[in-house]
Amino acid sequence: MHSMDPLPLLSLVVPFYNEEEMIGQFFDRVIPTLEAIPGIRFEIVCVNDGSRDRTLQQLIFASRQDGRVRVIDLTRNFGKEAALTAAINEARGDLIVPFDADLQDPPHVIGKLVDKWREGYDVVLAKRVDREADSLLKKWTAVSFYHFHNDVSDVKIPENVGDFRLFTREVCDALKALPESCRFMKGLFAWVGYRTAVVEYVREARAAGKTHFSGWKLWNFALEGITSFSTLPLRIWTYLGLSVALLALSRAIYLAGRTLIYGVDVPGYASLATAILLLGGIQLIGIGVLGEYIGRIYLESKGRPIYLVRQRFEGAAPHV
Ligand code: UDP
Ligand code: MG
Repeated sequence: MHSMDPLPLLSLVVPFYNEEEMIGQFFDRVIPTLEAIPGIRFEIVCVNDGSRDRTLQQLIFASRQDGRVRVIDLTRNFGKEAALTAAINEARGDLIVPFDADLQDPPHVIGKLVDKWREGYDVVLAKRVDREADSLLKKWTAVSFYHFHNDVSDVKIPENVGDFRLFTREVCDALKALPESCRFMKGLFAWVGYRTAVVEYVREARAAGKTHFSGWKLWNFALEGITSFSTLPLRIWTYLGLSVALLALSRAIYLAGRTLIYGVDVPGYASLATAILLLGGIQLIGIGVLGEYIGRIYLESKGRPIYLVRQRFEGAAPHV
């Protein structure tokens, strides 16, 4: 914090991907709401995640209108987690609030997060009390994902909490120090810990545009979450293999005994074929699981940056 300016700076960090329809209303709603929060200054860190529409031009326009709006343009679409990482890295605030461009998280909740922070917490989570805006399938898959993830991982992700939250500079620096390039932010947020409070809110439907997360993307996201924070899917094969081997062994002993008593017995193609196919399938799943992890080790070992910045825009002149 600057000695001349004692008010804490809040950084609202927002990834934008093809959100041209949203930008007008976004600033119209968010700026007055932030201005109305007493006792803070704010900046809005907008990351353009390789949008193919007029998102960047509109963001630059907004930053010329208002010096508190900063724009970071990435070189291509790196995905939401990477864009959010970029926004968090660029933030200069004492308080950081990740936020979606589609206004699904109501801006007025930010004031509540700040109030809770004043009570002395380092992290204030915004928890959805209902998911009426989401489809039944999305609701169900989200619930199953949280349950499964938390059953198999040591780091528990709070249910119905997205990236929308407030955290302090200290937490931000802790996050930035995590070296992995697979940025499953919900998991990383949970991993760093700190004194945490929860504020409840109702999530709204997207104000305009459409979601960027199809079923397949969500499935991959869930896989990433689980493989980033749990090794149970790797270890489970030992036990599964052991049980199958034990079953096979007892059956072999039984068959040997039966043959000794009743003589040779030819039929049995069906059970044989089933056993082979079943075991083959189980082995392939096991190899697939290994592949998931090895793929991630491979990606991490390359040590590539999580994103690349093309240009930064602040006020009137671009800063590279
Ligand atoms: N987003 C992004 N890069 C992407 C996909 C999405 O920066 O590749 C941004 C998007 O502009 C929005 C936020 O991530 O600000 C959440 O996206 P969306 O609303 O589509 O996700 P949902 O709310 O449906 O989970
Ligand atoms: Mg959304």
